[in-house]
Amino acid sequence: MKIALLGPPGAGKGTFAQMLEDEFKVKRFVMGDLLREEVKKKTKLGKEIKNYIDNGVLVPDEIACNIMRRKIKGKKNYILDGFPRTLLQVKSFKEDLDKVIYITTKNEIAISRLAGRRQCSKCHRVYHIKTNPPKEDGKCDFCKSKLYIRTDETEEAIKQRLENYKKETEPVIEYYKKKKILVEINGNRSIKEVYEDIRKLFKW
Ligand code: ADP
Ligand code: ADP
Ligand code: ZN
Repeated sequence: MKIALLGPPGAGKGTFAQMLEDEFKVKRFVMGDLLREEVKKKTKLGKEIKNYIDNGVLVPDEIACNIMRRKIKGKKNYILDGFPRTLLQVKSFKEDLDKVIYITTKNEIAISRLAGRRQCSKCHRVYHIKTNPPKEDGKCDFCKSKLYIRTDETEEAIKQRLENYKKETEPVIEYYKKKKILVEINGNRSIKEVYEDIRKLFKW
């Protein structure tokens, strides 16, 4: 099964993609993490990508599509997180998704989640200082690596990302709704409650 998780920044895409991967052993591909990996390599492309990310602007469709296409080539089962995010990405991707899970969240909830988000520098798991804290301060439960705050969790970049979302990604939601493969999930609840609804959708 091929699925994608969509929703505004802070909706919980990364959290639930990880939980699905852990439970169903289906690999997730996280567009933001793949891009941040490229930034870490400090290549020319990585430097270009960093500039977009830090300003809260979407990376050009061609770059995002090329990276994602290479990753999922030939795979029959996967979970996509944060891709496709524009109608152009939908068109150029050409893969037939089975289900698109749309996690909704109120703006103020999303913003407070992003303010407390911490991410593992190695395995990319996400935590929250209040709602989902690691067992040991500043360390990943899973691989014990250091947690960090993303460089784009600034007030300005967050505002920009929420705006992009409205402009670029809401039309993608409409597209999948018309295709009748969209499932809307109310993401304004606890992690446990939201996940209970999401996991019921799958039989891998
Ligand atoms: P969040 O978890 O807050 O939604 P992501 O980690 O998914 O953020 O994305 C961080 C940044 O990476 C985005 O602001 C954008 O610059 C870039 N990015 C992520 N996904 C895409 C995509 N599908 N197309 C273009 N750029 C993307
Ligand atoms: P996204 O990938 O959609 O940007 P994340 O999965 O990174 O969202 O979640 C954003 C932050 O909010 C993280 O710190 C995560 O631990 C926390 N979080 C996610 N879902 C919930 C929820 N339902 N209730 C409380 N906190 C949540
Ligand atoms: Zn880790």
